[in-house]
Amino acid sequence: MKKSFFLGLTAISLFSCKTSENIIQPSIQTVTNSTSITSKDTYWQQHVDYKMDIDMNVENYQYQGKQELIYTNNSPDDLTKVYYHLYFNAFQPGSEMDARLQNVPDPDGRMTTNLGTKESPNKVSRIKVLKPNEIGFIKIQSLTQNGTTVSYKTVGTVLEVTLNKPIKAGEKATFNMDFLGQVPLQIRRSGRNNKEGVALSMTQWFPKMAEYDFEGWHADAYIAREFQGVWGNFDVKLTIDKNYTVGGSGYLQNPNQIGHGYEDANTIVKTSGKKLTWHFVAPNVHDFTWAADPDYIHNKIKGANGIDLHFLYKNDENIKENWKKLQPATAKLLAFYNKHIGEYPWKQYSVIQGGDGGMEYAMCTLITGQRKLGSLIGVTAHEMAHAWFQHLLATNETKHEWMDEGMTSYISHLAEGEGKENPFASAYRNYNYLVSSGKEEPQTTYADRYHSNMAYGIAAYSKGEIFLAQLGYIIGEDKLAETLNEYYNQWKFKHPTPNDFKRVAEKVSGFQLDWYLTGWTQTTKTVDYAIKSVEGNTITLERKGRLPMPIDLIVEYTDGTKEYIYIPLQMARAEKTNAYPALKRTVANDWAWAHPTYTFKASKTVKSITIDPSELMADVDRTNNSYKK
Ligand SMILES: [Zn+2]
Repeated sequence: MKKSFFLGLTAISLFSCKTSENIIQPSIQTVTNSTSITSKDTYWQQHVDYKMDIDMNVENYQYQGKQELIYTNNSPDDLTKVYYHLYFNAFQPGSEMDARLQNVPDPDGRMTTNLGTKESPNKVSRIKVLKPNEIGFIKIQSLTQNGTTVSYKTVGTVLEVTLNKPIKAGEKATFNMDFLGQVPLQIRRSGRNNKEGVALSMTQWFPKMAEYDFEGWHADAYIAREFQGVWGNFDVKLTIDKNYTVGGSGYLQNPNQIGHGYEDANTIVKTSGKKLTWHFVAPNVHDFTWAADPDYIHNKIKGANGIDLHFLYKNDENIKENWKKLQPATAKLLAFYNKHIGEYPWKQYSVIQGGDGGMEYAMCTLITGQRKLGSLIGVTAHEMAHAWFQHLLATNETKHEWMDEGMTSYISHLAEGEGKENPFASAYRNYNYLVSSGKEEPQTTYADRYHSNMAYGIAAYSKGEIFLAQLGYIIGEDKLAETLNEYYNQWKFKHPTPNDFKRVAEKVSGFQLDWYLTGWTQTTKTVDYAIKSVEGNTITLERKGRLPMPIDLIVEYTDGTKEYIYIPLQMARAEKTNAYPALKRTVANDWAWAHPTYTFKASKTVKSITIDPSELMADVDRTNNSYKK
């Protein structure tokens, strides 16, 4: 998702499991007769095949659904329960989302109405005042497991199902469900009649199986943000008023019966009746989203590798020109991400006007469309990057929010700022603001449970972005680029964890990086290096912050020459390539972390010294980073 908020007077734009652990054969025989534990690669992931038949009523915003879900239990465990997400239930007075909105110190402006003034605001939850015909809901009407009724209970946004028979390790079960849904007034992400008049933004709209992985169930309530889903295939038949144009995840199977810009060239589409049934198939995804409006314009262009890029936006004179200019820019972004991460594997991607800002979904994004061109392209750059960092490299973003938002922000800012000296500068500014506010929480905080939205936003987006930008400083830009490609190769269509990413970076670079992953993501410790003293040619540096780093130092001598002195960090056990190839590089002795100071002798008389002129090291106090004679 893309996020914007204000810090003081300055608008800052924030953009929005595998475990590779090996279980070792115990050397001492245990006395119980439990299943033997063997040494092998233990990665597994569950699998789902959804078939859904949806009948949408565009008058009362209710939809009748039939869902057949074939669930494959690839885990080593027998399951006696399963859980579904019922996200739309969040949009009801008294829900956990409503409660959170009323208690967070800085509620999302989109979800509140200000009944006070700008100076003394009185922000009221928009969920709290929803009427029965405006709320969202998913009501389960019947549910069977392999043809037999099961007992279930709706608890807020989660359906708890007690199985008749366990789904044994390696077995499949078929669940058949009838449900009735109601689309809420648009409060957050999903809903009807968004502020730009888009009729239906259908995200997180169906009963969705929760993920079960090496950590157990992730049946998280829908409180604010971030998601996790089971990999699988979707086959969705959507019956809706024939005047509505639909865009979303999946390939349309019957374009010549539907039209609306999907039909083959020179095809005359004949329809009868009041409704059309759209048939979509989305392979190897972990979500399914759609949007529909009777006034959508639908354009299609070809991107790299013959991929169809679809654009659906309102027939509105004020935005048409920007939405046309967005199209070649989107094709350029696709090519950039293909090269810098890995090839986009589906044959289609859609940019759809809808939602309430920008949010990523499988094979598509929903973004608001009444924007200046720069913002329209910027948000698309961010959301499209999520097609990789979430919809291919599907981290559990409820727990590791920085992996999807941060990596997305990194790569989209790299794409937008190609050629700029530091395309990540705003992330460093935001991070410094957070540190100085005293409100920082570690990035391991569960996405919904930060004290403030501000602390979440900067930790996930900006500090997450710096994780990669600063990794480039540590291991070298060349090795970072290689790491991203290799991460994609090894982890696409899976659920990587922070450790999985770290291991790829370690293997690519030869660096040991556990100190970085743990220090940066699991603590709020900071980096601060200083020039302590220069006496004659003797230079003493000081590590004032608790987080260690290797040091890039540019020394200028009184004779006008410059030298790049590289001080490797001992615990990293490796050296990067020359960060300043134009300069003579000297690799100094390692700096071991426990020593607070480091002294060395320069070869000539020193005129000036600068620690990290790239400013990619997240030094929280740069005032002590330079010396001038
Ligand atoms: Zn995002």
